[in-house]
Amino acid sequence: MFKSGIPIGKAFGISLRLHFSWFIVFALVTFSLAGSYFPVTYPGWSRATSIVVGLVTSLLFFGSVLAHELAHSLVAQAAGLPIQSITLFIFGGVSEISEEPKQPGVEFRMALAGPLTSFALGGLFFGIRALEWMPQEVVAAAFWLGWINLSLGIFNLIPGFPLDGGRVLRSILWSRSNSLRSATRTASNVGRAVGYIFIFVGVIFVFTGNWFSGLWLAFIGWFLENAAVGSYRQLALQDMLRGHTVKEAMVREFPAVPPDMTVEELVGSRILTTGRRYFPVVSDDHFVGMVSLRGVRSVPRELWRTRTVREIMTPADAVKGVRERDDLSNVLKLLAEEDVSLVPVTADGHIVGVVARENLLSFISVRAELGM
Ligand SMILES: [Zn+2]
Repeated sequence: MFKSGIPIGKAFGISLRLHFSWFIVFALVTFSLAGSYFPVTYPGWSRATSIVVGLVTSLLFFGSVLAHELAHSLVAQAAGLPIQSITLFIFGGVSEISEEPKQPGVEFRMALAGPLTSFALGGLFFGIRALEWMPQEVVAAAFWLGWINLSLGIFNLIPGFPLDGGRVLRSILWSRSNSLRSATRTASNVGRAVGYIFIFVGVIFVFTGNWFSGLWLAFIGWFLENAAVGSYRQLALQDMLRGHTVKEAMVREFPAVPPDMTVEELVGSRILTTGRRYFPVVSDDHFVGMVSLRGVRSVPRELWRTRTVREIMTPADAVKGVRERDDLSNVLKLLAEEDVSLVPVTADGHIVGVVARENLLSFISVRAELGM
């Protein structure tokens, strides 16, 4: 979720991205600051002043969110965890960390770094506001930014996973019980409870006429509840797969397609007849790429007859695959990271099998039914 976004630059080797939902929030924040908050608080300001201060304040707000997120990432990086990217989206930011921390101490510091940064920024803005010689426009912006950073720090410390506070709680439980899974279960149950409380309070707000705040709260609650369930499920799944090899779950029979097949043939004789969305492309027994429904959609229909699979496939060197002896939990990670539903298993330039999401699920459910 929220992985795609427009790249806006790099900081400390981490790529920064903006999800499209960010623009909605940026517009909302700017609009409410420039259109109502500043004009109401400072009736003497001209319209232009309100708009300029509103825009600058809004940008600094998103800078603050970014600083919060960078703090998490930098602590993670210092602990040796690779950070891929930071994406700003509707509720703030998400850091894309491809590995979970291996010690509770690292998670504790990583989780706390964000809220501490927000508190520090809050203090900084309140400090600026207190300077007597500051122009009124700066004081106004600093006051709002001080409050928003303080609220950001407090909100994120709510102890429900996957919020920062939930991660702090998890790290404490984890260091006590030595079980990451049971710690995650408890912390995500608290996260779900927090989500339900938000939804409940939101509904009350809606019925007492405060429908905008109510819907917003309920939406945040719904998002929290979902994220809490999702992150526990992901971890539990990873736990069950760990220690098994790709070979145990992979499928050896899979339909491959030749690179010179036309897109029309691919759709007519393979995609529509099998319902599959991904096909390995094989030429003279060699694995040359992967073709997907997404690739087909990139070609206008009238060109299906003339375009070939080769032109729309992802070439083999850009496809992330696994090997037979790899740990099965790596497949789950790849499926999530690459946002695909199937991973090829290769050996010396040949494709020997595939593992799809449903293969992992049936691998687990069959073993569970056998009581293994
Ligand atoms: Zn955070």
